[in-house]
Amino acid sequence: MQLAPRIAHIAGTDGDGWGIYYRTREMIRAGERVLNLTIGEHDVKTDAAILGAMHGAAMAGHTGYTFGAGLPELRAAIAARVQARSGVPTRAENIVVTPGGQSALFSAHMALLDRGDTGLYCAPFYPTYSGTIRATGAEAVAVATRSSRAFQPEAAAIMEAATRPTARTLLINSPNNPTGVIYSRETLEGIAEAVRAADLWLISDEVYDTQVWEGQHLSPRALPGMAERTVVVGSMSKSHAMTGSRLGWVVAPEPVVEAITLLATVTTYGVPAFIQHAALHALAQGEGFEAGIAEPFRRRREIATRALAGSQAIRAIPSAGAMYVMLDIRATGLSGNAFAERLLEEERIAVMPGESFGAPAAGHLRVAMTIPDADFAEAMARLAGFADRLLP
Ligand code: PMP
Repeated sequence: MQLAPRIAHIAGTDGDGWGIYYRTREMIRAGERVLNLTIGEHDVKTDAAILGAMHGAAMAGHTGYTFGAGLPELRAAIAARVQARSGVPTRAENIVVTPGGQSALFSAHMALLDRGDTGLYCAPFYPTYSGTIRATGAEAVAVATRSSRAFQPEAAAIMEAATRPTARTLLINSPNNPTGVIYSRETLEGIAEAVRAADLWLISDEVYDTQVWEGQHLSPRALPGMAERTVVVGSMSKSHAMTGSRLGWVVAPEPVVEAITLLATVTTYGVPAFIQHAALHALAQGEGFEAGIAEPFRRRREIATRALAGSQAIRAIPSAGAMYVMLDIRATGLSGNAFAERLLEEERIAVMPGESFGAPAAGHLRVAMTIPDADFAEAMARLAGFADRLLP
């Protein structure tokens, strides 16, 4: 029996760092104490009041099929949120509700790419990106960013990639997973210029937009001439600690929304109504609630900065947003993979090797700040000590 070439195409040739992740899970299951800094997920669970709203909606009968682009009242609430946060006029007709941000990423690329096209994305990257682009049949081409430039995309590199004749889309992510970098206004203006000049679609993954520690999050959809060629990916996963609820959205011009709604009709049939009602309830909690969900990461970023301040072996890329900090460990002479393997074996601390996020992150580690403060402080102190002992 043979699988369709399209599905084999999804896997591509990127390495992945999930080996460490799965080994860590096995060790924890076997009863070992491992400080697990691999997972991009809150250590708090979805708020009980949100679950109450979910239960209440289900008990009130919202258990049937939900066709289409989402509940009108949820689309309106998301549109109002997007407009308030970005300043860009946004209507319910610009929104389609999806089962999580990942489905939004997939749907956006399916709507805009085809076989023979090229989808661009910046490296280091969230590991689903290249496979998501390839799932459409298109080629995925990474645009490298550099550690020495704090992983801000550089206008010249974007422009060069954008002018490939087959390029149709550029996917960016700020605040960024895995680097914690927030793209500056200058970076975004350079990207917007390249995208306009080469007539590309910009797909802007903004799922970490409530986790901003320094500077400001700017949605590129707000830049001149960009609303008509930008597709924004949003999600409740990170902002409301609702990863398992699978509630995300796409913000786009209406024809794109219609195309994605058509795709939903032949794939997911939309998101369960009781989850959409819970999302409505969660969005109504306002900014204070969202700041509370983000707060632990803000604290732990300070903890990491203090723990690493005296290290000779580690250079932290300043984390301006998201729940991650990226560490440059090249001074130890080890690759990210080798370092992460030894850290797990010798210290029982699990981190993601930079190599799992693309070549520009080689010799780096991604630390997810997703364990309680005391454990996190212990992990960072021991990680710094381990790295410093590796120095010649
Ligand atoms: N984009 C980025 C950058 C992410 O880190 C994640 C999840 N880790 C997603 C999208 C997808 O999140 P979800 O599907 O839970 O909304």
